Amino acid sequence: MAKRIVEGLWDCKYCGTKGIGGLTKHCPCCGHPQDEGTTFYLGQKKKYLEADLAAQYGQGADWVCPYCNSLNRVRFKFCSNCGAPKDSSEGDYFNNETKRRESEAAKAASSENSGTGAGKSDAAKKAPDPAAVKKRRFIILGVILALFAVILAVFWPRNYNGEVGTVAWAREIDIEAWRTVQESDWSVPDGGRVYDTNWEIHHYVQVLDHYETRTRQVSEQVYDGEEYHTRYSDNGDGTFTEETYSTPRYRTEYHTETYEEPVYRSDPVYQTKYYYDIERWVVDREEESSGADNEPYWPEYTLAENERTGFQGEAYTMSVHVKDKRYSVSLPYDRWKNFHAGDKVEITVSAGKVTKINGEEV
Ligand SMILES: [Zn+2]
Ligand SMILES: [Zn+2]
Repeated sequence: MAKRIVEGLWDCKYCGTKGIGGLTKHCPCCGHPQDEGTTFYLGQKKKYLEADLAAQYGQGADWVCPYCNSLNRVRFKFCSNCGAPKDSSEGDYFNNETKRRESEAAKAASSENSGTGAGKSDAAKKAPDPAAVKKRRFIILGVILALFAVILAVFWPRNYNGEVGTVAWAREIDIEAWRTVQESDWSVPDGGRVYDTNWEIHHYVQVLDHYETRTRQVSEQVYDGEEYHTRYSDNGDGTFTEETYSTPRYRTEYHTETYEEPVYRSDPVYQTKYYYDIERWVVDREEESSGADNEPYWPEYTLAENERTGFQGEAYTMSVHVKDKRYSVSLPYDRWKNFHAGDKVEITVSAGKVTKINGEEV
């Protein structure tokens, strides 16, 4: 890492002279001294300090004279502008609050356009326009609200006064019979009477068959020399320290390599499969009853000696008319039995479905 001292530049706020050398403590036009409002920046052309002069800089930031606010070299014991002693100074170039803010803004601007000589106007341009941000926020909020309104319109429950159109019910009983059926399995359950066996594939196992030579592309990071960088730091005394340093650079190299890939095959595993007769309860028939009134009943049935009843099912529905719209509702028996054709009811509809009748959840 090599270091060199570069002379910075400053602008005189009082007479408008620009690009005054950082080592020139007083404006050559109006004589005003560098003061706490002065910002040093780098020029397009770097002016490097000779070795003997360079040795005197970068030793510490200029101190601010508390009486006349001018900047003084760190080694000066008295203000070169008014003669006040350094001991009474409470701040230097860097811990001056306004100064720090300005240098930060300049740094942000210079890192962005990677140029040197960044001024205050550049930094101001980078700040986002608060009006544009507000406008964008309003548009996003508007879109979200519109979407929300659509969802509400569909799902928001609405109440209607309607009339029960028809009531309907259906009941069903499965009749099961004890019968001999044929089954097959890898073992015989109790009561099974084997009438045939067969040697069959039970499952497959993956077996290593052979290796195949394949190729693939692999990448590697290879050292490719040094990359040189330069950075500048404000010394706060009208100069900047230029540091050059290097970082290693790498390039990606590709090459083909061969490798052995295992290839598997599926081998079947055989086992004895049993074919047998066995007695099971099987559904023989369904007895059903249904009607469009309020008097449901179970279907009548007769059982043979080898029969029993199995699954029993029931369903109760009604239609509700609201003007020319029809809604279908399924209810448990205890609630359904209270509704009759022609009854006035209040229904709550959400997303096209009836969710409540007379205020009670369906
Ligand atoms: Zn001036
Ligand atoms: Zn002074």
